[in-house]
Amino acid sequence: MSQRIDLHTHSHYSDGALSPDELAAGAAARDVALLALTDHDTVAGCDAARSACAARAIHFVPGVELSSEWRGREIHVIGLAVDPAQGGLRLHCDQMQERRRRRIERIAAKLDTAGLPGTDLTRSALAATSPTRSHIAHALCAAGIAANPEAAFEHWLARGRPGHVAAEWESMAHVVGRIVAAGGIPVLAHPHRYKVSNGQLRELTGEFKRAGGVGIEVSLAGMGPGDRDRVASLARRFELAGSFGSDYHHPGIPWRPLGRFDKLPDGVTPVTLHLGTAFCPTYAAVTGQS
Ligand code: AMP
Ligand code: MN
Ligand code: MN
Ligand code: MN
Repeated sequence: MSQRIDLHTHSHYSDGALSPDELAAGAAARDVALLALTDHDTVAGCDAARSACAARAIHFVPGVELSSEWRGREIHVIGLAVDPAQGGLRLHCDQMQERRRRRIERIAAKLDTAGLPGTDLTRSALAATSPTRSHIAHALCAAGIAANPEAAFEHWLARGRPGHVAAEWESMAHVVGRIVAAGGIPVLAHPHRYKVSNGQLRELTGEFKRAGGVGIEVSLAGMGPGDRDRVASLARRFELAGSFGSDYHHPGIPWRPLGRFDKLPDGVTPVTLHLGTAFCPTYAAVTGQS
């Protein structure tokens, strides 16, 4: 049986549904041999995930997904193989969690103004180490106010909607620097999801590379072949390694299980080569799919 890899996952330290131990159990059940935990703006789950993976003979890669800003847009940068104890990274995460908390409190006030129970709807977000709008989206669903998380964003949380509060992130170049300083490999997350023109995506990717970027997510669960080819050509053009994973948040999405991604297109170097033997003892595991 092929051994799977997943380099983009979330736990309940940010907006994932599972604890690190449950995540590792899920990974073991799916024959995932190499797992990175990449929570939003926190490395707090990495110690628990490391032990949980060790107990199941899964190779663990400590990671993080940092929110950042580029030309007024929100861009996510994954840090793979970061040192979760590094002071600068911890400080950055602490600061971002504080900003996230304040943002959620402002969203609560705006939802109140819109006639919704803001305090109730933001309770689960504020209970998390790294509070996110995704928590609020799920609360809106649980309260029967939105049919699904996408609709919750569309009607309540997105720009121009009653509960929208703009985020204040550090620049993309800044967060790339934070990851490098923590010994990590910066990977541009889900480039196909940014609502920018092809020209802007090229400029974004070029700036990411010049800032010290090493990888780009070429193959994510749920990505269509057109998007994968578009991102693969960016990877080749800017000599970025291809990363892959599921962006796993919870077990309720059957088409996005742990360890699912399509094979990297030809001519794209797998980012696992940059992880080195300490994290990734066998590259044979990079087979692609299902
Ligand atoms: P935040 O970082 O607090 O802005 O929350 C962003 C998180 O919400 C993302 O990491 C996604 O998990 C989720 N999210 C963002 N946009 C959407 C959307 N349109 N539909 C569903 N989930 C979304
Ligand atoms: Mn998320
Ligand atoms: Mn993301
Ligand atoms: Mn993610």
